[in-house]
Amino acid sequence: MQNITFNNGNSMPQLGLGVFRVENDDTAKNAVKHAIINGYRSIDAALVYANEEMVGQGIQEGIAAGIQREDLFITSKLWLNHYGKDNVKDGYETSLSNLGLDYLDLYLIHWPGTNESLMLETWEGMETLYNEGKVKNIGVSNFTIEQLELLEAKTTIKPVINQVEFHPYFTQEPLRNYLAQASIQMESWSPLMNAEILTDETINAIADETGKSPAQIVIRWNIEHGVVTIPKSVTPHRIEENINVFDFSLTEAQINRIDALNQDKRIGPNPEEFNG
Ligand code: NAP
Repeated sequence: MQNITFNNGNSMPQLGLGVFRVENDDTAKNAVKHAIINGYRSIDAALVYANEEMVGQGIQEGIAAGIQREDLFITSKLWLNHYGKDNVKDGYETSLSNLGLDYLDLYLIHWPGTNESLMLETWEGMETLYNEGKVKNIGVSNFTIEQLELLEAKTTIKPVINQVEFHPYFTQEPLRNYLAQASIQMESWSPLMNAEILTDETINAIADETGKSPAQIVIRWNIEHGVVTIPKSVTPHRIEENINVFDFSLTEAQINRIDALNQDKRIGPNPEEFNG
């Protein structure tokens, strides 16, 4: 497992497990536990996924199996019903209680929303959490360059990370370049395009060339680009497959072939319009 270092000096594992669209039952618990036992140290949760309780139980089972809490990196996200400077703490504490944890390693504003002043106030609430030492790192998700520039101009603490849709059909090069020069880490959601990318011809050709699976090729392409990634799976052998990407690399030519697949094709909402 490789770690990446944030602009505040802290670090996180470059690969973790996503848990969106996972039932709040043994499915979530078992997936998280299986991931931790098989080397995952980062779990990407969110209040709105409505499964924090069973994700939390999976984390506890991982800890019971011998992994220390401080070696895990747990993320959750503030949903829009808790936006506003004074509501952030409540959102955070709800997630902590759901997860059965006493701190998070990373807390993100899930979406910027369409109300700029509310977005800025919400970030101030995140800054308070961070300054009070309640959370180790704060960041954002689905923020555009313009929204990040606004944060930079009007608030004090720079987000450590921006978690955004990123896969070979949506490579977001302008945002990626902006984040690199602003020292904000990029994190990819739906890195496998919710499995759609796995049937792509070029991805399959590179999988044949390297003897790896299509999912491993796409995850490795994230790693090669220095992006933090959180592929989701509830299937034990896929959870194992997806973390098994640190014993090979892609050639520059292979990376370029994957980059060239970009179609600016989103599968999720446009952050400039989405309001929950
Ligand atoms: P994803 O990771 O791109 O794809 C997940 C799908 O791929 C599932 O159907 C999974 O099936 C399948 N899959 C996983 N590994 C596979 C493999 N090795 N071979 C074949 N199929 C495989 O989709 P995602 O869940 O949308 O995104 C990942 C995470 O990003 C989420 O879980 C969530 O944590 C985060 N996210 C964040 C936002 C945001 O707004 N911040 C939005 C969307 C997602 P099985 O599970 O059945 O194995």
